[in-house]
Amino acid sequence: PQAGEQLLDVQGIHKQFGGLAAVQNVSFSLGAGEIVGLIGPNGAGKSTTFNLISGALSLSEGEVVFSGKKVGGSPSRSIARLGLSRTFQHVKLVPDMSVIENVALGCYQRTESGPIAALLRTDRLEERRAFAEAERQLRRIGLQDVLFQKAGNLSLGAQRLVEIARALAADPLLLLLDEPAAGLRDGEKAALAQVLAQLRQERLGLLLVEHDMNFVMGLADRIVVMEFGRKLIEGTPAVVQASPAVRAAYLGLEAS
Ligand code: ADP
Ligand code: MG
Repeated sequence: PQAGEQLLDVQGIHKQFGGLAAVQNVSFSLGAGEIVGLIGPNGAGKSTTFNLISGALSLSEGEVVFSGKKVGGSPSRSIARLGLSRTFQHVKLVPDMSVIENVALGCYQRTESGPIAALLRTDRLEERRAFAEAERQLRRIGLQDVLFQKAGNLSLGAQRLVEIARALAADPLLLLLDEPAAGLRDGEKAALAQVLAQLRQERLGLLLVEHDMNFVMGLADRIVVMEFGRKLIEGTPAVVQASPAVRAAYLGLEAS
């Protein structure tokens, strides 16, 4: 995609859990080569928004347009096949498998056969392609020295990067990252920020839910702030940080 070309358009999405409106009329968009941070206090509806975009949850109302196609209500597998990859809040690597094997599993997100076939290794040619692609992605983010180590033996920061490599192995246009910096040491955060900035440079779109304010404000082009299921404000990090409503949401005070 061209820089700035629209990848994702979230249009008035709504999610009702019984009597609770977890997400209410939220809209925003994201272009290629852009990093958008989704922030807000606990329970604001960030993860639900993520799950609505990726198809893990069904929409109550609204529409999600990804890569020019209406995907609201589509199963997550078909959205993934259009080029959306995600990581999870908690590391979901197979700890006893090697780094390269973990990443190779990601190649099957966009194929018909899926990860079960990948685990069973039904197709040798596909398997060789998957390993070549996994190695390419690991080199892309600087992990070429740990290809054959057990994933579970790596530091948390390196494991996060392996998860990103796995998400990249599906050849996405858009990456959704759920709290990528959580629990990382400062040096690991800096390494992660560098990788994400590189992916932006390579024209990926990145949407991150993040609690670490320094991390997200230093990296994102635009911030969407949620509170009580609604979008409170959207803007550049500078605008959002200066907003009295945002300060109020975080400090639990009345907005002036
Ligand atoms: P955040 O990620 O911003 O902390 P969530 O999207 O996880 O917030 O949750 C938003 C609200 O929806 C919370 O009140 C949460 O308890 C509720 N919620 C989330 N998932 C479910 C679910 N599957 N069933 C019922 N309520 C849910
Ligand atoms: Mg959450």
